[in-house]
Amino acid sequence: LKNASGFMCHLHPSATLAITAMAKEMKEQGHDVCSMCAGEPDFDTPQPIKDACIAALEAGKVTYTPASGAPELRKLLAAKFQKENGIRCAWDEIVVAPGAKYSCFTAIAALCGPGDEVIIPAPYWLSYPEMVTAVGAKVVEIPTRMENNYELDPADLEAAITENTRLLILNTPSNPTGAVYRRETLEKIAEIAVRRNIMILADEIYEKLTYDADKPHVSIASLSDEVNEHVVTVNGFSKTYAMTGWRLGYLRAPRWLARRIIAFQSHTTSNPTTFAQYGAIAALEGKADKEVRHMCEEFAKRRDLVYELISAIPGVKCIRPQGAFYLLCDVSSFGMTSEEFCNRLLAEEKLAAIPCCSFGAEGQIRLSYACSEENIRDAAGRLDAFCREHG
Ligand code: PLP
Repeated sequence: LKNASGFMCHLHPSATLAITAMAKEMKEQGHDVCSMCAGEPDFDTPQPIKDACIAALEAGKVTYTPASGAPELRKLLAAKFQKENGIRCAWDEIVVAPGAKYSCFTAIAALCGPGDEVIIPAPYWLSYPEMVTAVGAKVVEIPTRMENNYELDPADLEAAITENTRLLILNTPSNPTGAVYRRETLEKIAEIAVRRNIMILADEIYEKLTYDADKPHVSIASLSDEVNEHVVTVNGFSKTYAMTGWRLGYLRAPRWLARRIIAFQSHTTSNPTTFAQYGAIAALEGKADKEVRHMCEEFAKRRDLVYELISAIPGVKCIRPQGAFYLLCDVSSFGMTSEEFCNRLLAEEKLAAIPCCSFGAEGQIRLSYACSEENIRDAAGRLDAFCREHG
């Protein structure tokens, strides 16, 4: 390992796993630990989706599909993009993958290499910069402001673009900020991307989890056909259908790029699990829409509760999240690093939260409300006690 070469030796292990592992260990030792760390819905996969998967297994759907996914699933996804997102799309531009995380990676790997720059607005999902590093490209972070709903300022984007800029990564609704981009902001960003000829990776995995009628999810690729030619839209089944363990994501890319991504995927993973794809087909056919609506309603109630309780704690600053299931809290007024804050919060109050230093947000912590209302109330009480002690 000492002699390891290549870009992969610059990667960092996941920081979120460290605190989660510590919390788990304390729980096993009998401590009363309250966790706000979850990165996945606390619901079971809807039964109709499971049934379709079981039926596929029993019908012998156990061999390879094409590397890009089963054609019937790709056709349904193309129809979904057209109907729900307003994105013009042919089914051979769709690539199904083992998780949206891998879809993000294949897009980055197919577009970027040494010498290329990738712009990432901060705070960001911690895996993006690591993926960019893994392919030898350079990460260019642009800070965003809480007062601006953590949206990338188009003027900052314009100023950061160089002749080496290849890609901009946009995530709406956002992990960890909970922000949903406004259409006007997306229009300005899209105009710049087209004019300066850069590509956009739009990660829309939380699209169904939005909570305000005046803040609907807008797909940047839907703004015009010209914009669509500059966008890779990524989505997945994990968050919408509570299917994190199924490992199913997908993307739509312009045809030239989709071909490249399919070639890459054919040599690295081949197809996502065949019978899982049949569960996804049932989801797209609307067989679990009732369950999805229920989940969204629950998340909306929890969003209201978590924001009400946490924003009232002296010294903690946060915006009212409009989507996903995270609340990003600025705790910099306590004079600790994010990591120190979270380590002490866990030691003293037995409350586990994610330090956001690896999310490009030093001084901030992330609370996930993918948990019960009782858990949210308990967590708010503990955070309040900690902040009063250290304020
Ligand atoms: N994109 C974002 C912003 C995420 O937060 C996550 C999961 O946490 C993913 C992608 C990955 O999703 P998947 O489970 O489909 O790989």
